[in-house]
Amino acid sequence: MSSEKPTILVTGGAGYIGSHACLALKQAGYGVVVLDNLVYGHRDLVENVLQVELIVGDTNDRPLLDDLFATHKIAAVMHFSAYAYVGESVTDPDKYYRNNVVGTLTLLEAMLAASIKQFVFSSTCATYGVPHTVPIPEDHSQNPINPYGFTKLAVERILMDFDAAYGLKSVVFRYFNAAGADPNGLLGEAHDPETHLIPLVLMAGLGKLESVSIFGTDYPTPDGTCIRDYIHVSDLADAHILGMEYLLQGGDTAVFNLGNGSGFSVKQVIETAQKVTGREIKVVESERRAGDPPMLVGSSDKARKILGWKPQYADIQDIISHAWQWHQRRHK
Ligand code: UDP
Repeated sequence: MSSEKPTILVTGGAGYIGSHACLALKQAGYGVVVLDNLVYGHRDLVENVLQVELIVGDTNDRPLLDDLFATHKIAAVMHFSAYAYVGESVTDPDKYYRNNVVGTLTLLEAMLAASIKQFVFSSTCATYGVPHTVPIPEDHSQNPINPYGFTKLAVERILMDFDAAYGLKSVVFRYFNAAGADPNGLLGEAHDPETHLIPLVLMAGLGKLESVSIFGTDYPTPDGTCIRDYIHVSDLADAHILGMEYLLQGGDTAVFNLGNGSGFSVKQVIETAQKVTGREIKVVESERRAGDPPMLVGSSDKARKILGWKPQYADIQDIISHAWQWHQRRHK
């Protein structure tokens, strides 16, 4: 690797947020190596779109990690690889604790053995559970309401203890709702199965789905549907670069929310998608989905202040129109 800037290991770089981070790293001149087990990730994105090295493997595979760190000069690790289906975490918690917690622990142990001590971690607003105040600040209590949230909280705890004991420095990002796609159309969201609101709405707009369901219309919100803070995936990617550079410059372990600070209801998202796509989107009102807090909106003042992060695409219309470009191309 002949880049002047150091090389970063990106676990989960074949996934939605990880692939956008790889693109941002590459565009900023960093070397990138991806580790992905390809259970949910896409080989094609890494090899053909990003054109960076892909190592297919698992974070639970310690010999593979030792070999990776022995053969590549890695300055820091961005850790995106995790299972992230809330419902599945309830029915198969073992899969979630093994991958998200034990896998991360194995990765951290291998890093320490290789004297790599800078780590950027994808956490989630799901660690807050049902918030008692919005916008949610980082020091809000953390009481997850599903195993997925607990796996992320467990890693957050491990990271605090690993800093105190071993000097491993980390930046923990608690994302709100990642959405949108690379504005140039190179990358986007391609989950299978897809469970997220915006891609489902757009797939309905494309006629790939008959309709979209609104999960609950009796929440204590102005229009009765859940409110979320949608943050553009490219803005998340930029934050990761800033977080990693902060660590490489000697920054101390820190936790940051990443959101836009403004909330949109499910109905508002669907209306905006109708406007962006010009398509009639058939909506079915259905029951609440278990485990959905009525309102999740984050305060990201800390990331703005300490990292100098500023979302470029805070407008929900931009977020949806970038996603729309991607889905139109993907489903051509
Ligand atoms: N949602 C919905 N219909 C769907 C998928 C999601 O009404 O088909 C709602 C969901 O209940 C939540 C919001 O849209 O209030 C965002 O859900 P998503 O799964 O995209 O993200 P989450 O907030 O669960 O991370």
